[in-house]
Amino acid sequence: STPICVVAGLARGARAGVLIKGGVYLEALAGTKVVMFDKTGTLTRGAFSVAMVQAVDGGDCNAMLQMAGTLERSSAHPVAAAIVGHAAGLGLDLSLAVVGSQEIAGKGVQAIVQGRSVAVGNAKLMAEVCEGHAFPALPDVAEWASKATICYVVIDGRPAGVIAVTDTVRPEAAEAVEKLRKRGVQVGMLTGDNAGAANAIAATAGLDTPLVHSQLLPEDKLSLVSSLKAEHGTLVHVGDGVNDAPALAAADIGIAMGVAGSAMAVEAADVALFTDDLRCIEPLLTLARLVRRKVL
Ligand code: ADP
Ligand code: MG
Repeated sequence: STPICVVAGLARGARAGVLIKGGVYLEALAGTKVVMFDKTGTLTRGAFSVAMVQAVDGGDCNAMLQMAGTLERSSAHPVAAAIVGHAAGLGLDLSLAVVGSQEIAGKGVQAIVQGRSVAVGNAKLMAEVCEGHAFPALPDVAEWASKATICYVVIDGRPAGVIAVTDTVRPEAAEAVEKLRKRGVQVGMLTGDNAGAANAIAATAGLDTPLVHSQLLPEDKLSLVSSLKAEHGTLVHVGDGVNDAPALAAADIGIAMGVAGSAMAVEAADVALFTDDLRCIEPLLTLARLVRRKVL
């Protein structure tokens, strides 16, 4: 039967808005060596805004944005909402005909828009759909790539333009990370985003650089979680539970943040936090250690 101190620990978690799905997870948390965060929506707010738009060869930015915005209406990714909002704000008609829209996990989205093949996504997707056309070096794009998420727009296999979008780090992220590091836990991040955007966020949050991994496909996140567990020991993955369910499941303890209103996130995690304040992770580790030492 479950020891009384574990029951007390689970109860104390519950009072703090933390759903721990069993004593076994609370016990495992006491031995945490590494905490890996998902980027978008977890370390960051997950609310992107468009920072820069450029069309290839002096092309029409609005025509490019109309195609990209129409396509992104079919995507649920946080980047899509920013592009749709920006294009709509310019008064562009985003009701063009869309056929066969496909989200490509970790890469972007593509479809036939108004009879033309349109793709919006990261460098991986761009390389796949560009049919041998090299994406031209646009002014400022290299600089934006060191701090923003770069979305390439490709129309009929040809480079059409670039949209840079930025997200903001949660204001309490650095404090939350520092609290974890102070107790000897290493803190990193897993993301599908480009290295520049990932590194800028990692620096603001104060993550351990060797544990910052970018440009990952969903399956890469899974295999990294497995290899980091083997290398470092007990690993916690913190995500929003929306598109990181496999990593939450692969971790020793999967923690989903801000789950109020998302049954899917509660389902995917071992521990569900009904808050999106990152600073509540460290007290959870303290609680787990108190339970282990039977001093609760
Ligand atoms: P993350 O790990 O940051 O949650 P994802 O695995 O969901 O990211 O996606 C990886 C990258 O693919 C994003 O950073 C973005 O560059 C690109 N991407 C994904 N979906 C879209 C989309 N609908 N529009 C544009 N780019 C996208
Ligand atoms: Mg995410």
